[in-house]
Amino acid sequence: MRKNVIAGNWKMNKDLNESVVLISEIINSTKGLGSNVGIIICPPFTSLETANALLKNSDVALGAQNMHYESGGAYTGEITANMLRAVGCKYVIVGHSERRTLFGETNEIINKKLKSAFNSGLYPIFCIGETLEEREGEITEQVVEKQIREGLAGIVENDFAKIIIAYEPVWAIGTGKTASPEQAQEVHKFIRKLISELYSAVLADSVTIQYGGSVKPDNANELLSQPDIDGALVGGACLQADSFIEIIKAAK
Ligand code: PEP
Repeated sequence: MRKNVIAGNWKMNKDLNESVVLISEIINSTKGLGSNVGIIICPPFTSLETANALLKNSDVALGAQNMHYESGGAYTGEITANMLRAVGCKYVIVGHSERRTLFGETNEIINKKLKSAFNSGLYPIFCIGETLEEREGEITEQVVEKQIREGLAGIVENDFAKIIIAYEPVWAIGTGKTASPEQAQEVHKFIRKLISELYSAVLADSVTIQYGGSVKPDNANELLSQPDIDGALVGGACLQADSFIEIIKAAK
């Protein structure tokens, strides 16, 4: 039985003081929920160390939003997987569509990041998803398949077992438009079948596949009740404790 996992991607929001307030609210409201649902928050880099201290003994795990694939050197402004581990991160988001479109991340770069994350013991949340143009062109499955095949190239079963996949249709991220539960389920089922072909039926059955794209308290129930949707990667609605907790409760 797969457990739902709800992850909050804070993006470039919340300074240190604001982070402390939000994390404290989340910790208080999630006491006892962690045995039924995985809970992850991904604040900005500047809040990670403090977040780690606050989250000790809570039901909430810590993740980062990005990392570089190199292990160090002259990469001004970047951060390594080991640095994230050293401030207590367990997870890292890799290949978010904003990184792909705004910062030119290719499947090849994402593949290197995934490998670097594994080398450092991080568990990646690997994001994939099609644009509106690609959906309207009826090539969603081809796009997602290419992202998976190229993103996971050379990644062995042992490492794959640590991945969370987040299917996030780009047209649904931050737009208020959500994929219908049926649309999302169709792609999730396709992804699981592809993982079965690339790895094994056992891994396909156990991999967590989150949905992301304008998940809110009022649509979470319907999305999360689909058989192949195992949680959500949440952007906008994770910035207030109330709405994030409502989504976690829907996943329980
Ligand atoms: C995201 O950033 O991964 C996301 C899904 O954002 P939102 O929930 O705001 O659409």
